[in-house]
This record gives sequence, C-alpha cells and structure tokens, in this order.
Amino acid sequence: RKNLIHITTGSSALDELLGGGIETSSITEVFGEFRSGKTQLAHTLCVTAQLPKNASGAEGRVAYIDTENCFRPERIVEIAERFELDPDEVLDNILVARAYTSEHQIELLVHIAAKMVEETFGLLIVDSATALFRVDYSGRGELSERQQKLNRFMSQLLKLSEQFNLAVFITNQVMSTPDGSAGMFVVDPKKPVGGHVIAHASTTRIMLRKGRGEQRVAKIYDSPMLAENEATFEVSSGGVID
Ligand code: ATP
Ligand code: MG
Repeated sequence: RKNLIHITTGSSALDELLGGGIETSSITEVFGEFRSGKTQLAHTLCVTAQLPKNASGAEGRVAYIDTENCFRPERIVEIAERFELDPDEVLDNILVARAYTSEHQIELLVHIAAKMVEETFGLLIVDSATALFRVDYSGRGELSERQQKLNRFMSQLLKLSEQFNLAVFITNQVMSTPDGSAGMFVVDPKKPVGGHVIAHASTTRIMLRKGRGEQRVAKIYDSPMLAENEATFEVSSGGVID
C-alpha cells in the first residue's frame, strides 16, 4: 500500500479523534447545522495540507470545489500567517473551482483530475457536496435520480482519492423538514443529507455541533474503525485550534 498521510486539522484533540488527522486515499465527511464550523475546518485544511510532511501536512496543492460561494481568500491569509507560511504562496497553491449546478460539479472533477496529473495535490475539498443536488432535484419523485447522480459524483471522488493518494474532505448539511408553519423548517442536527449514498462512500464521518462561545464539538459518526468519541475544538482567526 502507498504511503497514507494524515493531515492535521489544527486541533490536536480533533487530530487524535481522527487517528492523527484526515487521511489520504479516503473520504472524510463533516456534517452539522449552519455555523457549526464545516467551512472553517475546510479553510484550515487548505493551509495545513501544504505543510511539510514532518509537520503533519501533505506537501501538496489543494483543490476546492465551492458550491455556495463560501471560499474566503482573506481567511486563508490569516490561517497561513498562523502557520508561518507565505500567504501568497499558500493562495497560489489552492485551485478554487466554483460549481453552479450539480452537473457542473460532476464535470469539474474531470478538469481537476487533469491538473492532478501535472502537479502534486494532497487535498480535495467539496463545500458543500450535497447542496446543489438538493436544489437541482428538489421535486417530488426526483429523489432516486438525485441519489443516482450523487452516487456518480461520490464514486468519482473515491477514485480520485485513491489514484492521487489525496485526502478528500466533503461538507454536508443536515436534514430539515417543514414544521407546518409557512416557510419554517425543523433541523435534525444528527441526520446528514444524502442517505446511504453518502454513508457508503465516506470512510470517516464527523458530526459537528456548536458548544459554548466559539467551541465546537466533533463526534465520530457510524464508523467501523474509530470509537464514537468526541473532541472539542475552537474556531479562531487563525482557523481551527484546541
Ligand atoms: P454553513 O452550513 O452555513 O455553511 P458552516 O458549518 O460552514 O455553516 P462556518 O462558516 O464554518 O459554518 O462557521 C462559521 C463560524 O465560524 C462563525 O459563526 C464563527 O463562530 C466562526 N468564525 C468564522 N470566522 C471567524 C474568525 N475570523 N474568527 C473567529 N471565528 C470565526
Ligand atoms: Mg459552510
């Protein structure tokens, strides 16, 4: 087997929960309600993936598929400064691809794969993996088509992760159901979107919830390999910390 790498999350507690950080050649999924820290964790990993291997990085470039226009270069600059990396170099090493539809999101993987042949990448982020599929297949009776397309996307991700020894990090939302009153929804913070398709493709699943203040709690969800432990971390200007 090739050399599996663990990329640090910026929090030693969270790294420990994950067996050293997020692993290459597999898909790590993080889900949780709005503001639970999914995008902040993704931004931190954009920087740490570029660290040398002896500093828990992957010494590689990063591809970021952005489906909700949430990528913030100014956050990358702050996080790079925390890790004493040159912010401009760090930004140059991140290939940001904005996806506009679920079909476009699938197509982008072809272009990204072509880049990966040319240069070494350590990490591929999809933030969020499921949002556009929910928008594009929102009608009644469209669920099976949505799941079929989502499955195609997830299989491609898994293939890329193995082909290029990449860590793939995807964010996912939680289920919400109408509560009866006009336009109101009830969120189930423990139920990720995407059903068995996402469950099957993700090697490691992390459930996030808000704690006190800037604290966030991560819990391993439904893993055959890892114990269902929890880790507490915080979001700071320098990204994820203990
Ligand atoms: P969504 O489902 O809406 O995409 P998310 O899980 O991606 O939500 P994030 O955007 O990662 O949520 O988290 C937002 C939170 O991160 C903010 O509410 C704030 O607590 C924290 N945060 C963001 N930027 C900073 C910063 N510069 N300094 C400290 N904390 C920050
Ligand atoms: Mg987000």
